[in-house]
Amino acid sequence: MDNRKKYYRGSTDGKAPFPRDPLAGAKDYYDLIVIGAGLAGMTAANVLARAGFSVLLTEQHYNYGGMATWFKRPGGHIFDVSLHGFPVGMKKTCRKYWSKELADRVIPLDSVKFKNPQFDIETSFDEVDFTRHLVETFGLTRKNVDEFFAHVRGMNFYDDSGETTGELFEHHFPGRNDVHRLLMEPISYANGSSLADPAISYGIVFSNFMSKGVYTYVGGTDHMIGLMKKELKQSGVELRNRVQVEKILVDSGRAYGIEAHGHKIEAGAVISNANLKSTILNLVGPDKFDAEYVKEVEAIRLNNSSTQVYMGIRDGEEVPFETDLLFTSTRERFDSPALCDMHGESRTFSFYYPSGRPEASNKRYTIVSSMNAHYADWADLTDEQYETEKAKLNEDTLVALENLVPGTRAKIDHVEAATPRTFKFYTQHQLGSSFGTKFEGLGYSMDLSKQIEGLYHAGSVGIIMSGWLGAANYGVITANKVDSFLRDLAELKA
Ligand SMILES: Cc1cc2nc3c(=O)[nH]c(=O)nc-3n(C[C@H](O)[C@H](O)[C@H](O)COP(=O)(O)OP(=O)(O)OC[C@H]3O[C@@H](n4cnc5c(N)ncnc54)[C@H](O)[C@@H]3O)c2cc1C
Repeated sequence: MDNRKKYYRGSTDGKAPFPRDPLAGAKDYYDLIVIGAGLAGMTAANVLARAGFSVLLTEQHYNYGGMATWFKRPGGHIFDVSLHGFPVGMKKTCRKYWSKELADRVIPLDSVKFKNPQFDIETSFDEVDFTRHLVETFGLTRKNVDEFFAHVRGMNFYDDSGETTGELFEHHFPGRNDVHRLLMEPISYANGSSLADPAISYGIVFSNFMSKGVYTYVGGTDHMIGLMKKELKQSGVELRNRVQVEKILVDSGRAYGIEAHGHKIEAGAVISNANLKSTILNLVGPDKFDAEYVKEVEAIRLNNSSTQVYMGIRDGEEVPFETDLLFTSTRERFDSPALCDMHGESRTFSFYYPSGRPEASNKRYTIVSSMNAHYADWADLTDEQYETEKAKLNEDTLVALENLVPGTRAKIDHVEAATPRTFKFYTQHQLGSSFGTKFEGLGYSMDLSKQIEGLYHAGSVGIIMSGWLGAANYGVITANKVDSFLRDLAELKA
């Protein structure tokens, strides 16, 4: 994915040259400007345009979708970056805020497997099947398991007890490192959380998955974003890509527009889908907030980043069905922080079969391996070290895959790695964070309009509001707030 020069045609240094004015012909004023076309930004734009507001959606990349993206490579390969799985709620969100056509393509995965020195199981990843495994494979009592599920199901955002996920597990399954691994590993991949994070952030996401298992989108990310773009246009949203928003315009505590490419465009309200800290500290600027607030925002921790290895199967070769998602590790015992190790032993393989892209003319298989990662491990490598580390990541991944599914390596004709640097480059998330900020970011995101009137944030924060479902739903929550703000504004003007 590190192929910048190709993306920005005419560029000699990998940076966007913006040969044409990407805002040419834009109006001077919109009811709403959205900065960033990730799932939260796009969903908020769609909801508010449908409500009758004029909406300008700006995106710095040429593509829409943010982290929900894909890329093509010679040989007919299409790789999905973050289409590994999400909870069933995505179906309802698509139906309500996008279209039935989108919702109908949200279907359950057939199989999820775990292979590590502590257990080797296949599951439909829902409460019934997890209960069966916890009792039959892990030897727990039914009462013990039921109590755990009742506890996490009953968790409520508004009465957070302050308990950590590690404490939650110890409380219900003391000393059972294997059980902690089963319960935590997939959620760490799904939202970057660890045992040290609040139990509430675990409980909400875990319960969402446990209601009906893991879901995917048939057609691939390119298909989904294509339909969303079509829908946005029908709703009346003005879509502008390659627009690097440089500044959110603020006067006397009120956001009134954006500055980009020499244009100042005014708006009744601004929603930023950019990283929360970048929104506050860079796009608005610390001078527009109280010093104390800025200090607190600076202290908000970002979530970890990821590495991925994309493997394309040669035309004409087949991969027999293995599973859809394979959580693997050669580590003897579960160790939550070790999931982010640069040379770690734990990775998740996503297998993509031709049935997942029925419209594609070329029936290809791809496999994507994902690991959680720290930006700091990759940030300061020289070009040579960077290439060496990526080659090592590719090789370690191919070896791991071959051990798990013998005979696969010989069928692969394309391999490439993405690192935290890649994710930062393409989405501008600080530290290449895959899931935005840690839990403490949520309050600052939700209260942004209390600091700067007319300014809102929608996007990965607080673990809960990240992932495809979390981000899209947060777009709706923010859109509802903006809707009433803009209606009040219209009444005042009338
Ligand atoms: C490797 C990986 C695997 C993942 N796997 C899954 C998974 O299996 N399931 C799941 O549910 N989630 C997964 N996620 C997470 C999920 O993709 C994200 O949480 C979600 O897509 C984030 O959406 P968002 O709306 O917060 O915005 P983002 O996707 O972060 O998009 C923000 C957008 O804003 C744009 N932008 C930023 N600054 C500016 C600016 N100044 N001007 C203009 N535009 C700007 C960016 O270019 C970007 O398009 C994964 C993420 C990664 C990285």
